[in-house]
Amino acid sequence: MIALTDIEKRFGDNLVLKGVSVAMQEGSVTALIGPSGGGKSTLLRCINLLEIPTSGILRLGEETLRFTPGGRVASKDIQLVRRQTGMVFQNFQLFPHRTAIENVMEGLVTVLKWPAAKARERAGALLEKVGMAHKADAWPATLSGGQQQRVAIARALAPSPRVLLCDEPTSALDPELAQEVVDVLGQLASEGTTMVMATHDLRLASKIAREVVFLDAGSVVEKGPAATIFASPERERTKRFIASLR
Ligand code: ATP
Ligand code: MG
Repeated sequence: MIALTDIEKRFGDNLVLKGVSVAMQEGSVTALIGPSGGGKSTLLRCINLLEIPTSGILRLGEETLRFTPGGRVASKDIQLVRRQTGMVFQNFQLFPHRTAIENVMEGLVTVLKWPAAKARERAGALLEKVGMAHKADAWPATLSGGQQQRVAIARALAPSPRVLLCDEPTSALDPELAQEVVDVLGQLASEGTTMVMATHDLRLASKIAREVVFLDAGSVVEKGPAATIFASPERERTKRFIASLR
């Protein structure tokens, strides 16, 4: 279980998350939707502590962290949380001077101290899973955006994170390449990978999300099963937003 309780995040005078509480079940996919600037990326970054919440409680598996304004979070706790998460970014962010397979191996070798041969074996299996085994030795710059994103997904999965966090994983891709990524994420979802993703991509969200959280101006306006939120949202604000995506 991943649970955020009353999470606030402030950047200077700007209160960007205004007491967000959401729980995500293991083995299910949660989509964060909402207008630009609503706090989706910030919320994702609060789950892996790329941003430290100003206040609130984060529960991730066995770890429970409480945040207080001005309080410090031990780097050991940050590492414990971060090792349970994998992150996929809008613009892939592969290491340009590493081949596809080296990108996937990198964290296993440098962070988890796996022997290179074992890391290469796992990386190869993950590239196979995302349909990229044939490009194992390619440089990122020679790959299409959809291919780069599939490598980035394999890299994020390499250390077997408890949750895969995806920030707009398809929004830098044209529709055909986005579809490749949707297919890979859909396959992972059907295998029970826990995912939380921020997305404007209705095709992605409606294909793979089980739960939807609608975030507007730093607050959760509505949340619930994807089918309900997409077909018959309760709030007028949610209805208008979903209509705008169609
Ligand atoms: P989009 O759909 O455009 O990706 P979003 O829902 O992901 O938007 P965030 O990126 O989380 O929104 O931004 C929420 C608010 O937080 C914005 O007002 C943004 O300017 C502000 N913000 C985000 N990161 C920082 C930062 N590092 N420093 C200061 N303000 C920030
Ligand atoms: Mg964002």
